[in-house]
Amino acid sequence: MHFNTKAIHAGQEPDPTTGAVMTPIYQTSTYAQSSPGNHKGYEYSRTHNPTRTALQNNIAALEGGKVGLCFSSGLAATDCVIKILQPGDEVICSNDLYGGTFRIFTKIFAPLGIKFHFLPMGDLAEVKKHINVHTKLIWLETPTNPLLNIIDIKRVCDFAHKNKLLVAVDNTFATPYLQQPLALGADIVVHSATKYLGGHSDVVLGAIVVNDLSLAEKMAFIQNSCGATPGPMDCFLVLRGIKTLHIRMERHCENGKKIAFYLKNHPKIEKVWWPGFPEHPNHKVARTQMKSFGGMVSFMLKGDDIKKTIRVMERFKIFTLAESLGGVESLVCHPATMTHASIPKGEREKNGLRDTLIRLSVGIEDAQDLVEDLGQAVG
Ligand SMILES: *Cc1c(COP(=O)(O)O)cnc(C)c1O
Repeated sequence: MHFNTKAIHAGQEPDPTTGAVMTPIYQTSTYAQSSPGNHKGYEYSRTHNPTRTALQNNIAALEGGKVGLCFSSGLAATDCVIKILQPGDEVICSNDLYGGTFRIFTKIFAPLGIKFHFLPMGDLAEVKKHINVHTKLIWLETPTNPLLNIIDIKRVCDFAHKNKLLVAVDNTFATPYLQQPLALGADIVVHSATKYLGGHSDVVLGAIVVNDLSLAEKMAFIQNSCGATPGPMDCFLVLRGIKTLHIRMERHCENGKKIAFYLKNHPKIEKVWWPGFPEHPNHKVARTQMKSFGGMVSFMLKGDDIKKTIRVMERFKIFTLAESLGGVESLVCHPATMTHASIPKGEREKNGLRDTLIRLSVGIEDAQDLVEDLGQAVG
């Protein structure tokens, strides 16, 4: 089955009791048993819920993985991945991570005894120097947020497996429509389905997909034991969102490209970050591992003036000033004070994230309207 068909059908069949074509929202916490321990595979909704099962199987199919697990948020999925480790274990992470990921690693898991090394993933000789007997996992995000650096997933996976390490890839920005990390060698794919998978900015949900069954078993045990599971209504919303993932992503990419080129040619713009530009430092890798370049575009005004930057962000009429991304509507965000405020300024600037950077999540509205809105806001 091809991707577009899987997006609509994988994991879902007409409801056996009524024939309902859409997966029902099984709003129940418990399930009747005919005699103690004799049930239909469902006992309690933290452990299993049919709406969640449909979504888990759907996301697993889209990522080309054997097992999917859903969580109450992307960070709850991240939490589950790190909980397969033990105190004393070490993790190598790409240095340009989602702010909340950086926060859970440094503020929650580091004090519990897990050590994180934040490193640029382009330089594997340098990464190698930080690997020792305690190192268990490489964690990466690509494209990165908000600088849209691209990491060569296959190259990192080959390197990791030579060193007997697992690789987890946060695939939130690309989605399985544009990039499938498991096929490139990754062991674990993590999602904030809150973004493109859900696609309508109306739900918070996370997911993990793996191929290895013993890893899946460990994670399912954590999912049930720690209990950060999503409710059936939220699973339904993401199932519904995913049905249009392929056509939404096509338009996000198309609009993203138009806006990236518009900004690049604008006399008041200093720099535009978008992996589709041939001069983007990782453009070749992006071309190889991604189907297209996504709907995220970041830019900086000439003059590097924070007051001017803020004024521009206040002037948008169609782009909404808000955190998050990946919805049908266009959003504008100031990473330094919004999504990345949990990363200390020194750390941000070390990785090239300036306070004057503006990040766009380009939606699927009319591209000309978006360009005009940018034009009037930039002035
Ligand atoms: C939003 C986001 C997360 C966190 O997901 P939540 O659903 O907000 O918990 C993780 N990684 C990336 C890349 C994100 O954009």
